[in-house]
Amino acid sequence: MIDETHSPARRSWVASANEHADFPIQNLPLCVFATREGAARGGVAIGDEVFDLAAALELGLFDGLAARAAEAACGGTLNPLFALGREARVALRRRLGDILDADGRDRAKVEALRSRLIPRADDCRLELPAAIGDYTDFFAGIHHATNAGKLFRPDNPLLPNYKYVPIGYHGRASSIAVSGATLRRPSGQRKPSTETVPSFGPSRSLDYELELGVWIGPGNELGIPVAIADAASHIAGFCLLNDWSARDIQAWEYQPLGPFLGKSFLTTISPWVVTPEALAPFRMAQAPRPAGDPAPLPYLLDAADQAAGALDIELEVFLLTPGLQAKGLAPQRLSVGNARHLYWTVAQLVTHHSSGGCNLRAGDLFGTGTISAPEDGGLGSLLEISAGGRRPIELPSGETRRFLEDGDTVVMRARCRRQGFATIGLGECRGTIAPAI
Ligand code: CA
Repeated sequence: MIDETHSPARRSWVASANEHADFPIQNLPLCVFATREGAARGGVAIGDEVFDLAAALELGLFDGLAARAAEAACGGTLNPLFALGREARVALRRRLGDILDADGRDRAKVEALRSRLIPRADDCRLELPAAIGDYTDFFAGIHHATNAGKLFRPDNPLLPNYKYVPIGYHGRASSIAVSGATLRRPSGQRKPSTETVPSFGPSRSLDYELELGVWIGPGNELGIPVAIADAASHIAGFCLLNDWSARDIQAWEYQPLGPFLGKSFLTTISPWVVTPEALAPFRMAQAPRPAGDPAPLPYLLDAADQAAGALDIELEVFLLTPGLQAKGLAPQRLSVGNARHLYWTVAQLVTHHSSGGCNLRAGDLFGTGTISAPEDGGLGSLLEISAGGRRPIELPSGETRRFLEDGDTVVMRARCRRQGFATIGLGECRGTIAPAI
């Protein structure tokens, strides 16, 4: 899985890529972007800039399987590229690495075409990378599940199915937006325990949830499950995902059928699709389950997946409030956690989802579930940080927060570091809250 595209010595002739925190030449995440002059099309992040795959194809920079992959990325969505699977993605990555390499064979020729290949960053608008047919949100962060459960059931935080079933629900694809989209505070039914009947109005407990998004590549036929040993080949990439949640609406509506309007008003994702190939150096063994926990049932258990199916991705959440902004203060970091704390691997999520015969399709999106660390500094939602609103956080501006207020901005970032490899990131997932209508 590790090849020349991961070499930490490799540098790009696109100067902003070298030592770039997120997008050095070793990353090469995919996106869909549009310019003022052109239609939406596939691109690749290189430093602060976007490499235009359609232009490169027109200029004859690709052939063979890499050309097939670039062609599949030239429409307004990456679904056709996702459907092609790993081999085509790898061919594209290898060729892109050569094209953008400072010591590349074609450097002189390609650099001369720079103005056609790399539109000005200011001219680029990033869009959703795929037409998302279906969106499923899991609950694989065991520390979040435990913390949230404790608020409702102090003696029995995890329900008996949790360690057997990768719990999830079918979410809403239509309200998934790309980073930067404004979140209009939702209204809905709320019934605090202090009131005898519900009322309808703006949510008073608006929250974020820090999750990893998983893009589905080649799908499976209806009725034909994906075996755990094959599950990784059905994953096209990863992004950051903020599952905005209205806790008061959620608390009143969620029994017996699970989340509904408390979640469906908006989900924000980062625009960059970081491929499994870019993440290869940052895979690690799934942490052994604590003594006494059941082993995964056989259909979810695969030695290779257990040995390298977890992802070492550091995850951060920042909050910028109107008060911090007014005083010129930096966004406040609310948490730093890591995706390795997930109780289930992403391969297990794919296999479980399809195990009853449900068909996945290229461009479907999974959320892993909120990722919290075992420690207090790594909690992935305000529900946990403020203990359900009972323990407000204090900010350097003098403001306090139980939950999010109008004008607040939430920013999520992710970084992968490993000795001997270039550090890469997932880009940013950002959203600002506007008042309810
Ligand atoms: Ca969630």
